[in-house]
Amino acid sequence: MSVIQKQPDEVLVGLTHDRFGDEKVFTVPAKYWCSKCDVVTQFNLRVKEPPQFSFQIRKALTEACGPTVPYETDYCDLLCHKCGQPIRVKYGQHEFAMSSYRYFPLGVYLYEAAL
Ligand SMILES: [Zn+2]
Repeated sequence: MSVIQKQPDEVLVGLTHDRFGDEKVFTVPAKYWCSKCDVVTQFNLRVKEPPQFSFQIRKALTEACGPTVPYETDYCDLLCHKCGQPIRVKYGQHEFAMSSYRYFPLGVYLYEAAL
C-alpha cells in the first residue's frame, strides 16, 4: 500500500486564477478527475474521513500530507465515485475579507491499495 502525490493541476478540474492572488483556486463545487476511470467526482472541502476510510487509509494519508496549520491549511477527503479510490486534498485558506475565504489546493494524495 502506498500514497501517490499528484500536482493539483493534474487531477483537479477547472482550477482558475482569481483576482486576489497567484494561487489557482477551486471551482465551486470542487471537482476531482480520476485518470483510471476517466470520470469526474465533485467533492466538498468540509468532508473529512468518510466512513469508507479505514484506520489504515486515514493513517497513510495523514502521514503523506503532513500536519496542517490552523487557519492556514486544511484537508478534505473524497472517493472516486466509480472506483472508490480514497483521495485526500490538502488546501490553503486565505481570508481576503472579513469571514470571506478563498481556498487553493496544495497537494493531492491518492491512496493505492496493495496490488
Ligand atoms: Zn476512479
